[in-house]
Formats: sequence, structure tokens, C-alpha cells
Amino acid sequence: MHLKVYLDHNATSPATASHLADLFEIINQGLGNPSSPHEIGRNSSVALTKTRKLLAKALEVDEGTLIFTSGATESNNMAIMGVCRPLLANYGFTPHAITSSFEHASVLEPLEFLQRSSNLNISFINPCHNGFTNLENFLKSITPQTIFLSLMVANNEVGTLQPVKDLGDVLHYKRWGIVPNGCNREQLDEQSKHIPGEISSEMLQKIHFHVDAVQAFGKIPTAYWNSPGIDSFSVSGHKIGALSGVGALHLKKGRKLEHLLLGGAQEKNRRAGTENIAGIVSFGLACQELLSPEWQNRILKMNNLRMELYNTLSNIPNIILNSTSTNSLPNTINISIAGNKHDNNLQTFNGEDLLLELDLKGFYASSGSACSSGANKPSHVLKAMGRSNQQAQNAIRFSLSVNTQEEDIKKLIDFLNSFI
Ligand code: PMP
Repeated sequence: MHLKVYLDHNATSPATASHLADLFEIINQGLGNPSSPHEIGRNSSVALTKTRKLLAKALEVDEGTLIFTSGATESNNMAIMGVCRPLLANYGFTPHAITSSFEHASVLEPLEFLQRSSNLNISFINPCHNGFTNLENFLKSITPQTIFLSLMVANNEVGTLQPVKDLGDVLHYKRWGIVPNGCNREQLDEQSKHIPGEISSEMLQKIHFHVDAVQAFGKIPTAYWNSPGIDSFSVSGHKIGALSGVGALHLKKGRKLEHLLLGGAQEKNRRAGTENIAGIVSFGLACQELLSPEWQNRILKMNNLRMELYNTLSNIPNIILNSTSTNSLPNTINISIAGNKHDNNLQTFNGEDLLLELDLKGFYASSGSACSSGANKPSHVLKAMGRSNQQAQNAIRFSLSVNTQEEDIKKLIDFLNSFI
């Protein structure tokens, strides 16, 4: 398929031609089942190990902590079900979890399933109008029954960055009395005042802090969000230019979870099922690109293009910006649309109409998140940010990649200026 102006990289960032050529060459040399006892099996096992090393390097974690999965939906489910289910069965009281109300569905739905089926008590922390959750609200919500905490690094629909590192650092400090590298003790003392007084360091040690790092990986440096207080995090291949159907869960050494899939010894008995070896190899190729010395410059250029689009959109009266210029992913802009030049202020021209017009002109964007588009429901993210039903239903997300060209953005700006 010839992609004209593809601006839906938060949904899937398609593999580039050179990446596909490298992948086909590796497949042609022979990829099979990494557990097979012959040359093709051994080659596949070597390829698997190579990707694990590359992914570990890109994420700055130990390679033994990485479990390959079918994608971040599985990784998030694995963390939530794997940690909470055994505790729900064994606790003498009702366990409690804390998350934000605008997480991805692959975090919200498993938690809500446990709420319905096993009485997990959940506190949902709302973001402010600009799409930021507040560290204090997470810390204040911790109770002696809290077993699980989950927060995304970057919201997939609006791109705002969340206080994941701060939360991890405070947890680490209060669990073990150790100041994480680069942190300031006075600031940690100040932040930890929000943890209720009855919460002991032993109680904090028992809480599992899970992070959805899907949209952050590759777009912002790992050091920005990773912290020794994080117990697990999810990443996904197809968001960084690998094939769809591959992801990983990082599980910190010493942390345990019940397995989601049974029936095979793959991934050191942690995830049964023959590995998606072609997908895994493509994940490694994508990581190689992230590790190249020019990557950060390419991200800066992408952010400059995003800001060009952002500034244009902020001057169009029928558009409400749902993304911020700072503290945001360098590739995401979300807008709500309220009419256009041609509807005489009747405001009947909506997000779906704009998406259709964009599609006809060869601009591929999405309405809110890909997973909920088509459902014609108001975005739960924008609702959580206090937008009206109308604004939450008429949202469009543009998400760029490092391969987005300046002329692509100029063409889009010309179209939007003439049309809306
Ligand atoms: N979390 C976030 C923040 C996402 O954006 C997505 C993908 N839309 C997922 C989880 C699920 O990832 P996958 O498609 O790999 O299952």
C-alpha cells in the first residue's frame, strides 16, 4: 500500500522499506521454532537472544527481566492478572488498586474485570483539564489494602506525560530509605508527605507498581520515566516500527507473577507459546534504529514539525487543542472540532466528517484512539479530562514519526487552513 501522508503512528508505526528488506533477508536465511533441536531452531534461538539484548539496551534494563509477548495488551493483562489474581484469592480483606481514569483499555478493562468478579476495590485518579495526573493524588490514595498501582508514561490519545518517574522514585525512597540516583532527598521528603501516615515501608514494598510505557518507548528517553520503584512495564513492537503482534513485559528481578498462558516452557516458563520469531526479529531491527546516534536529533526534528502544526491549529477558531505544547510526546496532537467554514456556524461538521475529508485527500489520521474509533463513542480520555460529550466525540489525533516530512505537514496545514 502506498502511504500518502500517514499521521497515525500512535496506532501503528509501519515498518519502513529498509527494515522490511532486512527482515526478509533474515527470514530467507531460515527462521523456525527457537525450541527446535536443529540448525534452523538454533539460528532462531540466536535471533531471539539478539533481540532480547537489543531491547534490553534500548530500555536500559537487564535482559533477563524481559518477557516477549504478543503485544502490550497481553503485557498489561499479564501484569494485572498475574499480580492481582493470586492476591485476591489469598487476602483476608478487599484488596485495592490505583490507576488513572484515562489509561488504555488494556489496563482499565482487566482491572474492571477484577472489580466485578473478585471485588477488587479501585481508585481512579482523574487527570486535570490539560491531561496531567497529579503525583499527590496517587500518593494520597494509598491504603493499607493497596496491592497494585498502574500509570501510563504518556497518554496515547493526547500525548501528555504523567508523573511515572516521580511516583517510582518516591516509592523506592519510602520502601527502602534509598535516594534514587539523580534525586533530591528534600524533594522526596516533601513529596512523601502525601502518603498517609499509617502506611509503613513494608506496606509500600508489597505494592506492585506497573507502568504502560507503550507510547513513550522510542519517543522520549528511557531515563525520563524509568525508576527503580517501577516493578513492571509494557512495551509494544508495532509502535516503534516493528511488525504487529510482538511486545514485551519487563518484570523487575525478585517480583513474581502468576502466568497468563500455560502449556510451554518458553520465556523461562513465564509465557507459554511458540515465539513470534519474525515479529521478534523485526522488534530487534526497530530497537537498532532507536539506538543509532542520530535518533535524538530525528526526534527533535519531529517535535519541530509537531510544533509547526500545533501553532497553526491553535490559530483556527473552530479547533480546540486537547494536547499541550510542552510535557508531551514529541509526535502527538489531538484536537476537537466544532464546525467549519462551510457549515454557517451550525456546528454540524464534526470529527467523523473531517476524518473522512482527510482520508479522501490522502491524510491518514485517527479519531481518538484506534481501539475505540469506529465505535463512535466519546473518547474516555477526553471525558476524563472534562471535555463535553460533543468535544470528546469530535476528536482527531495526528501522530507523527521521525520519517514524517516537512512537506507532509505543510500540505496538511494548507488543507486545514483552507477547509476548517
Ligand atoms: N497501551 C497503550 C498506551 C497503547 O497505545 C496501546 C496500543 N494502542 C496498547 C497499550 C496496546 O498495545 P498492543 O497494540 O501492542 O496490544
